[in-house]
Order: sequence, then structure tokens, then C-alpha cells
Amino acid sequence: MSRGDMAKPLLGHGSTEGDRSITPAAGRTIGVLGSGDFARSLAIRLVCSGFKVVVGSRNPKRKASLFPSAAEVTFQAEAVKKTDVIFVAVFREHYSTLCDLADVLAGKILVDVSNNTEINYHKESNAEYLASLFPACTVVKGFNVVSAWTLQSGARDGNKQVLICSNNQEAKRTVAEIAQIMGFTPVDMGCMSSACEIENIPLRLLPAWKIPIFLALGLFLCFFTYNLIRQVIHPFIKEQKNKLYKIPIEVVNTTLPCVSYVMLSLVYLPGVLAACSQLYYGTKYRRFPDWLDQWLQHRKQIGLLSFFCAALHAVYSLCLPMRRSHRYLLIETAVKQAVEKKMNIWVEEEVWRMEIYISVGIIALGLLSLLAITSLPSIANSLNWREFSFVQSTLGFIALVISTLHTLTYGWSRAFDENQYKFYLPPTYTLTLLVPCTVIIAKVIFSLPCIRHRLLRIRRGWEKGRYVKFVLPSATGEYSSGETSSNV
Ligand code: NAP
Repeated sequence: MSRGDMAKPLLGHGSTEGDRSITPAAGRTIGVLGSGDFARSLAIRLVCSGFKVVVGSRNPKRKASLFPSAAEVTFQAEAVKKTDVIFVAVFREHYSTLCDLADVLAGKILVDVSNNTEINYHKESNAEYLASLFPACTVVKGFNVVSAWTLQSGARDGNKQVLICSNNQEAKRTVAEIAQIMGFTPVDMGCMSSACEIENIPLRLLPAWKIPIFLALGLFLCFFTYNLIRQVIHPFIKEQKNKLYKIPIEVVNTTLPCVSYVMLSLVYLPGVLAACSQLYYGTKYRRFPDWLDQWLQHRKQIGLLSFFCAALHAVYSLCLPMRRSHRYLLIETAVKQAVEKKMNIWVEEEVWRMEIYISVGIIALGLLSLLAITSLPSIANSLNWREFSFVQSTLGFIALVISTLHTLTYGWSRAFDENQYKFYLPPTYTLTLLVPCTVIIAKVIFSLPCIRHRLLRIRRGWEKGRYVKFVLPSATGEYSSGETSSNV
């Protein structure tokens, strides 16, 4: 962005109904203490949004060229005198060096934008610390969840939310208005006691993904060990054959679909357990146990990891014929056939098995891709609730059924072949079928009219043992109403 561009306001004020309420804040002078990355991006954004900006630096001459020409860069004390709202774009460690400004800062709003390097690193939040250093000022915590990059690129790219908290409602409102004019969405997080929580947010590493990732790793480890025993250790012990070369591709490729398939069923299992609980207790108002609540909240991440493993499985499978080991085995088989003078090695059943399971696998992967895409917030927001639940619930369940078909056609009759039981361990695919089949059978049972009807009523607020008035659609689509003892 050129310095000229930086001076142009990006957002017009008062152009929409919503903007009208926030115009009073526009055009005012905003102060920024500090001239680092954040201060610079903030100044650019403020200028683009129509504010006058005055930057306070310890060395204004040296730093002035880094800022848009419309922003005034001066000494800290000078800058502070010219405005009532000052963004403190300085690290917490240097707050004490600003104490000389205490008199000029008195009565003004200080916006603490700082972050820490570790979660709960200090006993008190940075904002509370700043407030303790400047008791005559009003401190507002905000903008720390927005990066310098997001500020520069504008709210079009990156996080749009700005979390704000303060003990002073008026000051909070002023900062919220500024955020809104800058194109961000202010989120009121309450009073200053929330500052610690707000400061911890940018430091969290994928909090919603922790449990699903551990789950996927746990499953991967279990299935990998199981496949390793069957595919590598068994031939070594029983036939003294070295099959270690199978580990990087073959063993991994038999493990990935197991993880993907089981994870996909784990997306739908908590829903089944929740329905069982609602049917058993005859109410939807009873809280689920914490573990089930957590599980329900992580379904999206579990589903995305299932898709990730399925996609890897597809790529690994495509690469199988490229391996040198595969080519050697093909040539070896061809030579053996030539020696034994076998002309026709076509096994019709095997051909069909493979054609079907690959085709069904591709369809399952296609459906999983659809589920993954629609779980992205930008796509999900463009769907209404019915469309979203159709894709996630109905298509998701169809994906589970098709994945089951893929697994069954892959396994074919191997479950009944004695040679497939290495160390008496059944083929891996039979183990993976356990949870998905339970989910599918449960879903089929729930779709029986008598159970479906009861579940529907419970989800509409009906409770066992309570006398309630209800209105339900009849089989003809007409609504019938009546009073009933609900344990009927
Ligand atoms: P920075 O590039 O290191 O800038 C810090 C500025 O503080 C310096 O340029 C300096 O400006 C000023 N300062 C005032 N007194 C100081 C002193 N005694 N010693 C050293 N510097 C002093 O850091 P930054 O990335 O802009 O971050 C500034 C604040 O914004 C931090 O609290 C950070 O947590 C927060 N923040 C940053 C980001 C980001 O993406 N960078 C995102 C969210 C929040 P003068 O030399 O002109 O006085």
C-alpha cells in the first residue's frame, strides 16, 4: 500500500443505517503509543477508516517515515495531549517506562492491546497491570486478538472479531465504535476480570482439536500395531520372511482407512447415545454427562480428521503400483505363471470384488469431501439450517453406510478364511466394522415409526410423566392436538 493510498478512508461513514449510530466516533483523533509493527498497522487502519492519528514515539524523527503521511508522529507526551483515546502498542515489560506520562494521561482512555508469551504467565492481566500503573485513566482491553497483518489487510482477511472488556461502560462503547468503524466486529466480554481470558485466546493452540487429534493418534497407533503384527511380525516368525519394507506404505495404508472409518462412525455415535439417553429418561431437559457433551462438541473436528485420513488413504492407494516392490512381485508372478505354463489367471470373483470396492470407496470419499467443505464456516454460513443438517446428518450417514459397503466388499469372504487369522487375530477390517455397524443398526432402529415418533416428541419438549398439551402432525400431514398424560 502506498503512502497516498494509506491516507484514503476505506469505509464511508453514515452510508448505511447501521453506520449512523457510530458516526460520532468517526473523525476523532486517536493516539497510538509505540511505533512498532502493531502501532504501524493500527495507524494505517485508523487513517483508512477516517480517523486522525497521532503516534507517540521515543524517537519520532526516525520512525515518521514508517507511517502514512496523514498520521502525525511526535513525542509521546505531545501525542497524548492531543487525544482522549490512546492505544498502548507497547509490550507489558515497558509499561513502567510510560509512568512519566501519568499526568498528561489522567482522565483518558487507554486501550491495552498487549499479549503475553505464555498462558497465565502473570498473576494479573496486562490490562489490570496497566490500570494499576495509571489509576487516573480508564483502561479498556481490546484488539489483542487481531494481528498486525489483519489490521493491515483490513477486516476482509483474517479474524473480524475484536474482544473488548472494561469496567467502564462508556469507555468500552467508545472503543467498540472505533472497532466497528474500522470494519471489525466488537464483542463485549464484560468487565476487566475477563482481560486474562482475552489475553489467553491468541496463545491457545487449536484448543478444539486437542481431543480429536489425540483420538486419531490413539486409533492410528492401535491399528498400526495390529497391522504390523499381522503383516510384518507374523511372516517373520512363521516363515522367516523379511517384510519390513511393508511398513512405510502398506501397513500405513491399511491403518489409515481403519482410522478414517472408525472416526467417521465416532461422529455419529454420540448422537445415538444422546438419543438413547433422551429415550431412556423421556426428556430432553436432562443434561448429558460431561464426556458426552464434549464429544458432541468435537464432532466437526473428528469428521474432518476422518476425511483427512480417507484422503491420505486414497493417495497412498494410488501410489501402490508405483513401488519397486510391487513391480518385482508382478514380474515374479508373471515368471511363475510362465514356468507353470498358466495362460488364464483371470479370477472373475476377485475382479468384481475389486471393481466394486474401489468404486464404492471413491463415492464415499466424494461424500466425505462434501461434508468437509460444508463444515467450513464460510460455506456453512451460506446454508440454511435444513440444508446444513441434510448434508451433515443425512449425507454423512449415507457416507458411513457407503464406507461400510467399501469395507465389506474389500473384506469379502476373508473373515471366513482360516489363513487370514494370523496369531488367531481376525482381519483388521472385521474389527473396524464393530462401531460403524452399531451406529447404523441403532439409526435404523431409531427410524422405526414408534421410536422416531417418541424421539420427535421428546425433542419438541414432551416429557415422560408430565401432563402436557401437544400438537403433532398426523400421518396425513394434518395437525392433531390433544391433552395427554405423556407417559402413555
Ligand atoms: P514492537 O514492534 O517491538 O514495538 C514495540 C514498540 O514499543 C516499539 O516500537 C517502541 O516504539 C515502543 N516502546 C515504548 N517504550 C519502549 C521501551 N521502553 N522499550 C522498547 N520499546 C518501547 O512490538 P509490536 O509487535 O508492535 O507489539 C506491540 C504491542 O502490541 C505488544 O504489547 C504486543 O503484544 C501487541 N500485539 C502485537 C501484535 C502483532 O501482530 N504484532 C498483535 C496483537 C497484539 P518507540 O521506539 O517509537 O517508542
